[in-house]
Amino acid sequence: MEAVLDISELRRRGRRVCILGFGRSGLGAARLLLAGGVAVRLLEREVDDVRRAAWERLGQQGAQLRAGPHDAEALEGAALLIRSPGVPADAPILEAARERRIPIRAELALAAAQIHTPLLAVTGTNGKSTTTAWAAHLLRRAGLPGVAAGNIGRSLSQAVLEEPEGAIFVAEISSFQLEDCPELRPHSAAILNIAPDHLDRHGSLEAYRASKWSLARNQTGDDWLVLGESVRPPAGLQPAARVARFAHEDPGGACAAFVAGEQLVYREGQHAAALIERRALSLPGPHNLANALAAVCLVAPLVKERRALARGLRDFPGLPHRLEPAGEVGGVRFVNDSKATNVESLRVALQSFPEPVVLIAGGLDKGGQFEAIGDLVAERVRHLVLVGAAAERLRRAWPNVPAQRAEDFRDAVRRALAAADGSGVVLLSPGCASFDLFRDYEERGAVFKALVAELAGAGARGETA
Ligand code: ADP
Repeated sequence: MEAVLDISELRRRGRRVCILGFGRSGLGAARLLLAGGVAVRLLEREVDDVRRAAWERLGQQGAQLRAGPHDAEALEGAALLIRSPGVPADAPILEAARERRIPIRAELALAAAQIHTPLLAVTGTNGKSTTTAWAAHLLRRAGLPGVAAGNIGRSLSQAVLEEPEGAIFVAEISSFQLEDCPELRPHSAAILNIAPDHLDRHGSLEAYRASKWSLARNQTGDDWLVLGESVRPPAGLQPAARVARFAHEDPGGACAAFVAGEQLVYREGQHAAALIERRALSLPGPHNLANALAAVCLVAPLVKERRALARGLRDFPGLPHRLEPAGEVGGVRFVNDSKATNVESLRVALQSFPEPVVLIAGGLDKGGQFEAIGDLVAERVRHLVLVGAAAERLRRAWPNVPAQRAEDFRDAVRRALAAADGSGVVLLSPGCASFDLFRDYEERGAVFKALVAELAGAGARGETA
């Protein structure tokens, strides 16, 4: 293990670690280091009320706390700097650390260095959380102790601290974290897809692609690299790992997951195994088919029993707010896709239902090209209920679909139920951010589910909503 990340070595030598940024990952790293007896200094510009209690508790456990603006002096005596993903590359304190030759690492790098089981890792532009959770589910259904962590919710440090010895971690990794993980070597790593995203921070698509591909840089011929259909290596790079590709049709190559006829197939060398019928997958939509195939490739090196894969493909419950079943009212099914905050997500949601839906859309417009999915909306939406600041913008983008504007979110759900007229699906897939009406997409989804439950209760009592 790289000595700089070796917790017992840091403790033995009495070295101090500075943690820059006190978000979920900074908190996890601090707890992991303190539990290992390492001296910690926390640096955070502004500790808000939500995090104050955790901040003070770490102080009681011996961490040095430095809130407010900090300069190079804050790095005094540091052997390592843990940088939170939100800290921009040109922050002066990072420059100061480089000048002093203090290694800069991500929380994830620290956590990964403490793991002695094969590490699985997922990156890409879309579908990371679903694939990560699905891979961990497949492991568990095969009787292995799979645990999803990282960007998906619980930091990898926190998970390492809490999970028993022997756990097999599937880490969701953003490209921001990858910048500071030079030693990371996953046994099985997936790059799902690379679409223009976060270009504001990475500068160019090439730089963004290079950061995703750094996931593979330490892999050897004993490891596995899982690649989506459209993911190609940057010029001049030849992956050392064995490659498994996933695609809707057989992508060729020695190892692949794909659909043949109606079956999901995993092929390794001469052995091709039909896993389950496509329609038996637990989640709908072509995007979830891709996520499922990626998860199969990721875990296949550890799961030899193909029947176990079939079980986990059939009964993965999915993640909240992503095409999540939200209840039924008088024969109408409600689906919560509050996570869909952009046009691409709305597109894949609409492709996931065989019959036209009643769509609730709107919120805070992030400048999306809504006209680009006009034909799909016209084909797949039988009635539109518009809500929030973007309502008029959407009405103009999709002029050919019967639409009404809701006064507020409650009114939107009520109108959608009425428009559904006793059958089919009401889909909340806003295509917009939530910040005009809600704290975040999770609150929006939770309110939606509560309103549906209320309507279902009213229906059961024979009241009209
Ligand atoms: P991420 O963690 O990368 O944001 P999630 O699994 O949380 O991905 O899915 C977020 C949204 O992205 C989903 O609600 C869906 O609209 C869309 N999505 C999921 N998987 C894919 C995919 N494979 N390709 C394109 N879009 C996807």
